Amino acid sequence: MKIFNQISEMKAFIREQQASGNAVGFIPTMGALHEGHLSMVKRAAKENNIVVVSIFVNPLQFGKPEEADRYPANMEKDLKSAESAGTHVIFHPDVMEMYPEGYKTYIEVKEISDVLCGVKRKGHFIGVATVVLKLLNIVHPDRAYFGQKDAQQAVIIKQMVRDLNMDPEIIVSPTIRENDGLAMSSRNILLSELQRSNAAVMYRSLKKAIELVNKGISDCCRIKSEMEQILTNQANAEVEYISIVEAESLKEVKKIQGKVLVAVAVLFDSIRLIDNVTIEV
Ligand code: AMP
Repeated sequence: MKIFNQISEMKAFIREQQASGNAVGFIPTMGALHEGHLSMVKRAAKENNIVVVSIFVNPLQFGKPEEADRYPANMEKDLKSAESAGTHVIFHPDVMEMYPEGYKTYIEVKEISDVLCGVKRKGHFIGVATVVLKLLNIVHPDRAYFGQKDAQQAVIIKQMVRDLNMDPEIIVSPTIRENDGLAMSSRNILLSELQRSNAAVMYRSLKKAIELVNKGISDCCRIKSEMEQILTNQANAEVEYISIVEAESLKEVKKIQGKVLVAVAVLFDSIRLIDNVTIEV
């Protein structure tokens, strides 16, 4: 497995690979890799000749610089797990390589960046869209993989790629969960044992929504209030939002119709976790 820190060497490698007809699959990550990331690496290895994983904790998408500094990191373990899942190249630039002195360009995908996580995390999706656009320009993959776990991010990236006539095919991969249903996340490492077991309540609330829809209930107020009851009954869980939106436009819906996204953000003390399910009727 090759490790590139420089944009120029990453680009040169890809140019060579694509000139010899190799398809490139790309998985952007912030490291602290888990099975959620690795499931996409394994899929990309089946669908492409070359698999590139980027590991870059993007300071632009954090509200405060300290949050980026506190982000979990374990490079040695990441390299081992990425390689055994089928990665050929790790792209690991530093902040100055990505945002050198004098950097001035930012990408804003309007409206869909201002709902759900965008309400409290102002500017977060400008940071996400900007780094993903840069990474897609640098790696120029045939296919780029994103997790359904960050559903809003995936919708925003698909919109950006469509709007800016970019080449990569965007593939959204299913959420990988722990045995108790908690969505895998690099942030889960930050949870205490108690917080970790409490956090399973998020998926229980999402399963409640599925159960109610299966019973024929389509009123979103009713569904959200039953979900809220489950979440607020859990000690130390502070609900940031419970939303039911159209899966593509991310517009709030009153009744479940077509394909919807049921999404939650919950704080366990100061650790913020998100999760979602899609429901189609
Ligand atoms: P991150 O390193 O958290 O920025 O995530 C990198 C990519 O992995 C994003 O596309 C995430 O949506 C995806 N991802 C994170 N957690 C999971 C999960 N549990 N299942 C599937 N994909 C995930």
